[in-house]
Formats: sequence, C-alpha cells, structure tokens
Amino acid sequence: PESKTYGYVLDTPKHGWSGYDFLGRMKAWRDIPYFWTTDVNGAGWAEFETGAAKDAQNMVYLTVGTGVGAGIVSGGKLVSGYGHPEAGHIFLQKHPEDHYEGHCPFHGDNCLEGLAAGPAIEARWHKSAKEIPDGDKAWEIEAFYLAQAALDYTMILRPEKIVFGGGVPHRETLFPLIRASFAEQMSDYLDVPDLEDYIVPVANGDNAGILGCFYLAKTLL
Ligand SMILES: [Zn+2]
Repeated sequence: PESKTYGYVLDTPKHGWSGYDFLGRMKAWRDIPYFWTTDVNGAGWAEFETGAAKDAQNMVYLTVGTGVGAGIVSGGKLVSGYGHPEAGHIFLQKHPEDHYEGHCPFHGDNCLEGLAAGPAIEARWHKSAKEIPDGDKAWEIEAFYLAQAALDYTMILRPEKIVFGGGVPHRETLFPLIRASFAEQMSDYLDVPDLEDYIVPVANGDNAGILGCFYLAKTLL
C-alpha cells in the first residue's frame, strides 16, 4: 500500500494493460475493499476449499487451456513470493518424437505452455484438440508433458494432490495416460499417493475461478 504504483498492472504482454491504474479505477467506481490474485489462484483455491483437493493441505492446481498456469497451496496458503509463481513456464525435456517448434513467445519449445497448451496442440497437429480422437499419438505426447510437469511439482513441493483443469483436460482419456507416464518417469523414486487419487480432474467445473475468489474474499475480510 505504500508504493506509488500500488494496484497498478505491471509490465504485461496483454495489450493496453501495462501501467494501468486498476485499483484506482475500481475505487472510483465503488469504494469498497479490493484484493486481487491470478485467475489460476482463484480456481486453485476453489479446488482446495470445496473441490478435488478439499482434504489436502498441499496441492497444485494446473490449468491447461489457451495457456498453462498453476495455483499452488502449501501448508494451507497460496504460494507467493516476489510475485506469483508461473509454473506453466517450467522447462521440460522434449518428447523424442515431437518436432514441433513450440508456441511460447518467450521460451519457444522449452517450456510447458509452449509445448502443451491448446494452441500448441492445434499448431502441432493442424487441428484443434477437440478434433483429435482418443487413442491418437497426440494424447500420448500431451500426457508425457503433463506428467513431466506433475513430476517436477512433486519433486519440489511433495503435494497431496495435483488437480488438472482447463479445456484440454476435459479429455478424460488423458488421465490414465498422464498417470502411466508419471509412473514411468518417476521410476519408483518417490512415494506418492495412489495415482488415481493423486493426479485428478477438477471437481468444481468451469466456475472454479469465480467461486475461489468468493472463498478467498471470505478469508480476507
Ligand atoms: Zn514459456
């Protein structure tokens, strides 16, 4: 609150938003308390409160859609430091049969978002994720990347639950593939919960983001 730019949007690739006095504009509209967080933190918090991770104290929520983002809860609190985490841009090892150049404007084919977000699937296979049938090689490669991300989160955070949301994981056949690839890549190194209970889809559906913001507001007011 002491900062001159408190409540301003910092540098962002989103057109027109860099340096925007968001809080000032909201306060001018209605002078009530404001808090803000990322959309994925909102959705992740909803999964933590009443969703797939409601019995966990430590969880990772990953959304895979037009981008990839994560909301992380550790010890019952959203993880944040100098800024919010960007766990969708972790660097990954490429699948040996994948020659796609990646779509992340910052990291190309080095990061999870560049390799596994919806637009990456579409650009790699020249059709949308919805048009790709179950059993296609595309899903094996997608699962390899999502499993690798789950593996990295497991190594660093040892969560009790990893929850996948967003448009791409609407494809239910992805889950057995992610779990199998996770087990193979983990190679029995760490003890994790039963994979059926560990790597799971969202329980709050697509309204999780707004629901989570409501729960967060209740904890802050
Ligand atoms: Zn990236």
